Amino acid sequence: MSSENNPFDAMLEEFSGAAKLLNLDPGMWKVLTHPKRQVIVSCPVVMDNGQVEVFTGYRVQYNITLGPAKGGIRYHPDVNINEVKALAAWMTWKCAVAGIPFGGGKGGIICDPTRMSPRELEALTRRYIGEIADLIGPDKDVPAPDVNTNSQTMAWIMDTYSMHVGVTTTGVVTGKPVEMGGSLGRREATGRGVMIVTRESAKHLGFDIKGATVAVQGFGNVGSVSADLLAKIGATIVAVADWKGGVQNSKGLDVPALITWTEQHKTVAGFPGGDALDPAKIFEQPVDILIPAALENQVTAQNHHLIKARLIVEGANGPTTPEAHQALYKRGVFVVPDILANGGGVTTSYFEWVQDRHGYFWEEHEVNERLERKMVEAFDNVLATAKKFNIDMRTAAYVVAINKVATVTRLRGMYA
Ligand code: GLU
Repeated sequence: MSSENNPFDAMLEEFSGAAKLLNLDPGMWKVLTHPKRQVIVSCPVVMDNGQVEVFTGYRVQYNITLGPAKGGIRYHPDVNINEVKALAAWMTWKCAVAGIPFGGGKGGIICDPTRMSPRELEALTRRYIGEIADLIGPDKDVPAPDVNTNSQTMAWIMDTYSMHVGVTTTGVVTGKPVEMGGSLGRREATGRGVMIVTRESAKHLGFDIKGATVAVQGFGNVGSVSADLLAKIGATIVAVADWKGGVQNSKGLDVPALITWTEQHKTVAGFPGGDALDPAKIFEQPVDILIPAALENQVTAQNHHLIKARLIVEGANGPTTPEAHQALYKRGVFVVPDILANGGGVTTSYFEWVQDRHGYFWEEHEVNERLERKMVEAFDNVLATAKKFNIDMRTAAYVVAINKVATVTRLRGMYA
């Protein structure tokens, strides 16, 4: 497997560029490129047809130097250990860049949730959490939503864990329903963060976000909210694609109407407010801004040369392969890397965890104002680093993150 299709190798390649710049010593290099703990569990579930299926689940705690492991759980047929390891590593760097006191973790289950009933999904979630209950906890490892998981999944996780320990423990998981310890603003937070860094990037590059054209790949929680909030600050969303189809409208798509359509039809395909678009052509659109907000390995050696956008903001984790990224940077395309661009989600997860631990909940405007400050601070910090070393934004984000985690690792010393 090359870094074109092994996300962990891609992560290592990204890491090494920054580690070389920092003259990271070989011992620290080894420590920071190995996951602390990797767990694989088998989860038997009685399906609706009465038959038993066994699903494989993973939880990787990549690094817990800065605080409890933090990161989502994804349900997808393509989940595998290299992917979960990479995603857990990216969470480590993301939390460090965001300036929040968490390490990085990630979980996943190999399954196809589009073919499972709510009861089957609940049973699978509860069994998976039962299998890893000893590993998670508010001070140990705090899961959250990711691809194909949502606030209902988090509610089941909170309940299962609480039953195991005998105490209602809201802080074990973030992204919960607001009725049971979730934070206002959490659902929109990743998309809101994407909007904020897109706006800041446009400012830096010297173009007006008002009237700028945008294409979005993926219309789940991240893609849809990013599109909606960018449209609200004046950008024109001209193309959207998901795994089933796409839609375009050069005058601008009506994003709230598209969100309603997608809730009903589970895809943007067929939306009457635009023309059909081949989803494979989403990256070729003649737009100012491209937002990959689906899965990893989307912008690759095969398609980077077709990209016309001058700004790419990575709503997804790992959407651009190292080779494609290098070529885009050489061409002058400004790429805001995942570990900076989509950090709004985990930043508001941190706010949720703080509120749960205090048992005191903030108003939505307070959450959003704090997120705004954190995102702008993180963006400015990475941009200043990029300018200082004359490097791309991804390498700069890794420089910031590695520096932080390595400094604390040195201060704590090696336990032996
Ligand atoms: N799954 C999200 C991410 O990749 C959020 C993680 C979290 O809130 O812990 O950043």
